[in-house]
Amino acid sequence: MTANVGNHYDVIVIGAGISSLATLKCLLEAGLTAVVIERTDGVGGLWTFRENDYGVMRFTHM
Ligand SMILES: Cc1cc2nc3c(=O)[nH]c(=O)nc-3n(C[C@H](O)[C@H](O)[C@H](O)COP(=O)(O)OP(=O)(O)OC[C@H]3O[C@@H](n4cnc5c(N)ncnc54)[C@H](O)[C@@H]3O)c2cc1C
Repeated sequence: MTANVGNHYDVIVIGAGISSLATLKCLLEAGLTAVVIERTDGVGGLWTFRENDYGVMRFTHM
């Protein structure tokens, strides 16, 4: 995910985990402009599937 450098936002949200995505939804619903900056190339944080790393793994039961 990339930020639009030079643009103006009311809020910058760091990370694209589930908490940030819920925050982003609330911000947009409140009429604010916001951008999410994520250090990885995916969204979902711990809930992103990873084959051999902490988070949602193949053996996770829901
Ligand atoms: C299988 C599983 C089951 C779970 N069950 C429960 C449960 O029953 N009850 C419960 O309360 N919790 C549970 N959890 C924990 C819960 O999912 C986590 O607490 C929650 O996902 C955390 O969300 P988060 O958005 O705060 O953080 P994360 O999911 O960790 O996301 C943070 C994001 O921020 C990014 N980031 C971090 N630092 C930076 C930076 N400096 N710049 C840019 N990006 C950055 C990360 O890359 C990541 O994408 C469970 C987790 C898993 C994996």
